[in-house]
Amino acid sequence: MSPDGVMVVDPGSAPVRAAFTTRHPGRSVGAFASGNLGSACGDDPDAVRANRVALSSRLGFDPDRAVTLDQVHGSAVVTIGRVGGDGAFTGAMTGFGDADAAVTGAPGVALLAMGADCPVVLAWDAGGLAVAAVHAGWRGLIGGVLEAAVVAMGSPVTSMRAVIGPHVRPCCYPVGQEVRAGIATRFGPDVVRGASVDLGACCEGALLAAGLSPGAIARVPGCTACDQDRFFSYRRDGGETGRQAGVVWLPARG
Ligand SMILES: [Zn+2]
Repeated sequence: MSPDGVMVVDPGSAPVRAAFTTRHPGRSVGAFASGNLGSACGDDPDAVRANRVALSSRLGFDPDRAVTLDQVHGSAVVTIGRVGGDGAFTGAMTGFGDADAAVTGAPGVALLAMGADCPVVLAWDAGGLAVAAVHAGWRGLIGGVLEAAVVAMGSPVTSMRAVIGPHVRPCCYPVGQEVRAGIATRFGPDVVRGASVDLGACCEGALLAAGLSPGAIARVPGCTACDQDRFFSYRRDGGETGRQAGVVWLPARG
């Protein structure tokens, strides 16, 4: 059974843990109620810290070895520790700079990516060599952040799996003509739905382009903007809102 407020991802037989959070439970109040995990959206830092520690306790990862990035809607990937080697942890946990994707092959290092409408994509390979957490908004998608993360993992693409987390669906995501045009140029006309774009379909297109097979890609159902009880939504809440997260890690061997 999933811990309260968390959607645990089934990684199949891979030695991987992965989950997506919802907006509850937690200690934050107001627009951030209650499980906000973002530290750069205006919430009380003590509440964010408490929410993060509570999440690590519910899911069973080490909060002192959990990685968050300064997300900037770019396509940079940060690799933490060694990938594809013996898993020895060699990196530092802070100061990764601006990036929207994190990759590691180090057991026990939990990668978190945040979103409040933008999809978070989690990826791993069947052998547990590497995992990735990616914040994949439209700018990052056009910039190739997902393809870059797959390359950085260094795993055989035939063994890779990915899951696209909760995000704003076309029902609630009208965008300007320039965004639609840029997305259509990059991912084809099918990802444009009327005045909206289908960010999940863009993620899928990027993952397919990176070499994953259709059967290796899953999508979590639901729309962040429609489902106010479960999700933060930047669009719906006019910018003042919290962040949910996707988290993925390789369990420590022992
Ligand atoms: Zn919607």
